[in-house]
Amino acid sequence: MGDSSGISVTDETLQRSEAAHRTPPGKRPAGTEIRSTYGVTIRQGISLKYRNEEHKMAIKKVVEHPAKVLSTPCAEVKEINEEIITLLDDLYDTMVEYDGVGIAAPQINVGLRVAIVELGEERDILEMINPTVIETDGAEVDIEGCLSFPGLYGEVERPDYVKIEACDREGRVYELEAGGFDARAILHEIDHLDGVLFDSKIKRILTEEELEAMYAEEEE
Ligand SMILES: [Zn+2]
Repeated sequence: MGDSSGISVTDETLQRSEAAHRTPPGKRPAGTEIRSTYGVTIRQGISLKYRNEEHKMAIKKVVEHPAKVLSTPCAEVKEINEEIITLLDDLYDTMVEYDGVGIAAPQINVGLRVAIVELGEERDILEMINPTVIETDGAEVDIEGCLSFPGLYGEVERPDYVKIEACDREGRVYELEAGGFDARAILHEIDHLDGVLFDSKIKRILTEEELEAMYAEEEE
C-alpha cells in the first residue's frame, strides 16, 4: 500500500463541470452492475429491492454529532480483508438507507480510513480506502449537508477540483480526479477520516425557508 506507482486513473467522465451534479441528498437510479473501471471499483446504484432479494442488508446506525468517533482522526487500513469488504458493503447499505451521497466509516462507528461517495449523474459508487489528497484547485461555495447532522445544511467553501490517491477493495492503488460537486463530496468524506466535521466550515446556515424550498425541489 502507498505504492504510488499503482494504476493511474484519469477518467474523463468523472471530471464534471461544477453545475453538472449538485443534487443534495436525492434520488438514485436503480442498477445492478458491479464493474471495475481503470482499476477503480465502482459499483452502480443498486436498488434496495434488488439488494433485499439477493443480499443480506447491513444497515448500521449513523452516529450523530456530537460523538468522539466523529472528531477523532481514523487509523490507516493495514490490510484489506473480509472485515474491510464487509465495512464497504455496510457503508453502502447504510448510505442508501439514509439517502446520503457519501458516508465515512466513523459515521458507522468504525475508526478506519474508509469512505464511499456517489459520483456523477450515474451515481456510481467510489470506494476509498486510505485516501489522500494529492492536489486541489479553485474554490466554490455550495450547500452541504451531512448524515451525522440531520437537518443542518449550510454554505461551505471547498476546492472545485481534487486529485486523490486511494486503494480499492482489491488493494489496487488508484488516482482519481474530480470536479464540482463530486470534488466536494470526496473532500467532505476525507475530512471525516481526519476527524474534521463540516459544521466547522459552514459560512452560513440555511434558513428554514431555504430548507423548505430545497426539500420541495427534491420532491419534484
Ligand atoms: Zn458528513
